[in-house]
Amino acid sequence: MKSIVITGHGGNEVVFLMEGAKTVRQPGHVLVRMEVATLNRVDLYMRDSGAGITHSLPQVMGLDGAGVIEEVDPAETTLKVGQRVTLHPGVVCGRCEFCQRGEGVLCNKIQYMGEHRNGTLAQWVSVPAQNAFVIPEGMSFTDASALGVNHLTAWRMLFGKARVQAGESVLIFGIGGGVSLAALQLAKLAGLRTYVTSRSADKLERAKAMGADHVINSQQQDVAKTIALLTQGRGVDVVIENVGGDTWSQAMKSLVRGGRLVTCGATAGDMPGADIRRVFIRQLQIMGSTLGDFSEFRQLIDFAAQHHLRPVVDRVYPMEQMHAALDRLESGEQFGKVVVTIAG
Ligand SMILES: [Zn+2]
Repeated sequence: MKSIVITGHGGNEVVFLMEGAKTVRQPGHVLVRMEVATLNRVDLYMRDSGAGITHSLPQVMGLDGAGVIEEVDPAETTLKVGQRVTLHPGVVCGRCEFCQRGEGVLCNKIQYMGEHRNGTLAQWVSVPAQNAFVIPEGMSFTDASALGVNHLTAWRMLFGKARVQAGESVLIFGIGGGVSLAALQLAKLAGLRTYVTSRSADKLERAKAMGADHVINSQQQDVAKTIALLTQGRGVDVVIENVGGDTWSQAMKSLVRGGRLVTCGATAGDMPGADIRRVFIRQLQIMGSTLGDFSEFRQLIDFAAQHHLRPVVDRVYPMEQMHAALDRLESGEQFGKVVVTIAG
């Protein structure tokens, strides 16, 4: 069996295409013959350091992926051999208070594939049956795989946390990033007015082509002032933010009174000024979010099928070109998902 593993931490020199024994299905699991996996920034983080994430080496990379069920548990009642499935990356304990109340994504023992345990970049993967979601007819493996992290994260941010309503306005920072692009797609389908930022004129152009109502070049324009101009001083209802750092104060200043900010990342710095006075005087709501629950993933997949949502794909690489795929991800030049094909 072929898989992509990290054997240490550093650059691409710790990333190998390995030939090893075929994965054995564990009790309660399904065995999936993988077709594709799609990359996320955290794959680079695991390669570079993996600091703060309990894991052991060597470890298979990859959080999201899709394939065909090859084996099921004898007691399995829902899933069947031959079904096409996409995988939810969070393996939960099923026993803690959060799992008990159906919020597995808050599980205090949650293990993410490709972070705390072997990931999806392998020809065969064994996952708990509840992590495998049947792909609707007409949806490709690539599209279904790409929903697993970015779109699921954006889905929970918009609908689970901000509880957006049609007609509201949303400001999405850093368009081109996976979660931001997913948020733009979902926001448009939900009938929101969308404002997006990027330092790249090219990415803004592409966002506009995808239906973004207003684009803001954050290298040339002050985002908060531009939002004030565009909204007649009102501000936006919701901000979707995953950068942190200097972006944070721009995000806070762009919100309408009582507005909601949802964050899922801090790649530009995790200790921005809090501006607490602004939070209480303008009665802002700040919410953190990570990934999404099993039920949200099912809703998202069905929504995507119903609306013919196609995640944006940047480039497709075979497993043998994993280093090039990681380079592409690291360049920051990609627009949409970097896909790795596994079959064959
Ligand atoms: Zn749990």
